[in-house]
Amino acid sequence: MEILTDPKLLQERCFSWRCKGLSIALVPTMGSFHDGHFSLMDYGRAEADKLIVSLFVNPTQFGPQEDLDAYPRNFERDAQAAREHGVDLLFAPRPEAMYHPDHATWVEVPDLARNLCGKSRPIHFRGVATVVAKLFILAQPTLAVFGEKDFQQLAILRRMVRDLGLPVEVVGRPTVREADGLAMSSRNVYLEAEERSSAPAIRQGLKAAREWVAEGERSAAEIKRRLELFWADRLSKGRIDYVEVVDPESMAPLETIADRALVAAAVRIGSTRLIDNILITV
Ligand code: AMP
Repeated sequence: MEILTDPKLLQERCFSWRCKGLSIALVPTMGSFHDGHFSLMDYGRAEADKLIVSLFVNPTQFGPQEDLDAYPRNFERDAQAAREHGVDLLFAPRPEAMYHPDHATWVEVPDLARNLCGKSRPIHFRGVATVVAKLFILAQPTLAVFGEKDFQQLAILRRMVRDLGLPVEVVGRPTVREADGLAMSSRNVYLEAEERSSAPAIRQGLKAAREWVAEGERSAAEIKRRLELFWADRLSKGRIDYVEVVDPESMAPLETIADRALVAAAVRIGSTRLIDNILITV
């Protein structure tokens, strides 16, 4: 496995691969790998000739009060794990190599970014879309693999690719979970023991929402009301950042569930903000 930190070298390497007719899968990450990341890598490994993983804690997607400095970083462990998952190239740039001091160009998809996570993290998706666009320009991937855990991110990136006509296939993969249902996240390490033991209630609530719809409930307001009660009972130290029922493509809030709906939530447990979602098909 090759490790590159220089964007120009990444671009040269990928250009030569594409000239030889090789396909490239890209998995963008912020590191601290867990099985969720590995599932994306394994998919990319199986689907393309070359597999690139980027490991970059992207400063522009963190707000001023967020955990940029505290974000878990384990470069040596991650590099070893990437090697074991058949990664050909690990791209780990320094922030200065990705952003000029007077960086001024942003990619924004505001219609899909104002709701859900975009509400409490107003600059987050602008940072995500910009860094992913930059990675696409550098790596020229045939396909790029993302997790459905970050469903809004996936919807925004799909729209960015469609609107800009970028020649890359965006693939979404299912959320990988701990045995008790908690969605794997690099941020789970922040949870204290008591917080960790209550956290699976997030998933339990979302599954209950799916049941309520299966039993005939169609009102988004009623589902949200029941979920708030469900979590109030089970997440004593939790505070709901949002719970929304939205259209899975446009991220627009739904009043009534007709065919497909995404129920998405962010919950703060102690100082840790966790997100999860469930796609419901009637
Ligand atoms: P991150 O390093 O948290 O920015 O995530 C990098 C990629 O891994 C994103 O596409 C995430 O959606 C995806 N990802 C994170 N957690 C999971 C998970 N539990 N299951 C599947 N994919 C995940």
